[in-house]
Amino acid sequence: MAEILIVEDNPVNQKLIAFLLARSGYTFDLAENGAVALQRLAASSYRLVLMDMMMPVMNGYEATRALRADPRHADLPIIALTANAMKGEDDKCRQVGCNDYIAKPYSKDQILSAINRLIGPPQAKTTQPAAG
Ligand code: MN
Repeated sequence: MAEILIVEDNPVNQKLIAFLLARSGYTFDLAENGAVALQRLAASSYRLVLMDMMMPVMNGYEATRALRADPRHADLPIIALTANAMKGEDDKCRQVGCNDYIAKPYSKDQILSAINRLIGPPQAKTTQPAAG
């Protein structure tokens, strides 16, 4: 069972985040839009969601609102990822229910410290060899 759900439509960003999480020992699943994310979250539980806000089919705002409307996901940590640098974007993400907000382009440390702040270090056993 994976710890983190990456919700991101851009293949390059998907790979970047997946690489980062794998290197840090977090297990993860991918969803390419909000609708797929809701399906994954109905099927299994995750410790945290990394939510891109701009996606086709169902964007991150709609998906986060839908999750917060469901008591099962009321306390699920959600970190908003957005390339929208407009003033007030931070508030907009928090208003729909995101716990934290990271603007793109983000650094490895920004992502990892935000995750660590919300859920702490990886818990799942990984099959990766110990770092040498
Ligand atoms: Mn996007």
